[in-house]
Amino acid sequence: FLIIAMVIGVTLSFVGGYILSGRTIVPIRKSIQKQQEFVANVSHELRTPIAVVLTNLDVVKSAPKEPVEDQMVWLDNAYDETKRMEKVVGDLLFLAKADAGQLNLEKEYLDLSYLITNTSERLMPLAAKKNISIYNTIDERTRLYADKMRLTQLVIILLDNAIKYSLENTTITISTKEERGLYQLRFKDQGVGIPVEDLDKVYERFYRADKARSREMGGTGLGLSIAKWIADEHDWRLEISSEAGQGTMVRLWIPRENIRMEE
Ligand code: ADP
Repeated sequence: FLIIAMVIGVTLSFVGGYILSGRTIVPIRKSIQKQQEFVANVSHELRTPIAVVLTNLDVVKSAPKEPVEDQMVWLDNAYDETKRMEKVVGDLLFLAKADAGQLNLEKEYLDLSYLITNTSERLMPLAAKKNISIYNTIDERTRLYADKMRLTQLVIILLDNAIKYSLENTTITISTKEERGLYQLRFKDQGVGIPVEDLDKVYERFYRADKARSREMGGTGLGLSIAKWIADEHDWRLEISSEAGQGTMVRLWIPRENIRMEE
């Protein structure tokens, strides 16, 4: 019996070893590598603002007699970077909950045009700084079956990006279209665009096509990862098309049965 047990044991460990080294090890190694990259990214994302906060607070502490206007500039810098960290941590917590399956959607038929107008108004101060106009051309009768909080979050991410990466005195248009039996919700801007080679990477966590602009505008590199999760959870498809210098179009492809026209 002992011998049989040993033979089975050796065989199992051999088979196990084979499976682990042959088929399983590679994906495990890749996933560990991804995990390590992610932790390195998070550390970097937080270390930079922490350094800026500390430097500015050090200056304030070591120069108590400097004019109050100067002190305010240093404190403002520290404040802005703290806000950035708050955003990174908030976005990461959202994605962690999403990964853990802790976010459930509560869907209802929503007045789409009203939701878009309301959400755009929240971003008006940002748009006004660059004299950007936002046009909502959605039929007021449109009702979309969606989770209100998540849809609002998705619209904020897309409009915030459209504003961040747009040039001054341009327009952002939100429109709808029906194509191939699907309903399309479109966000079009006249901004800097996304180079073709970056298009399929912008959904990755912390990936930025335009690093300098993203940082300058307070971006976290996590917005589109969140947007994609929200779209996927609704069974919608998020598609981004763009060319550098030609503006960007984000399309949400929505099943026709999620749309109802109110009389
Ligand atoms: P971020 O916080 O940096 O904006 P996102 O995940 O929302 O992060 O977007 C990832 C990257 O995709 C951005 O850093 C930017 O380079 C690019 N991007 C997203 N939306 C647009 C847009 N409307 N126009 C141009 N580039 C965009």
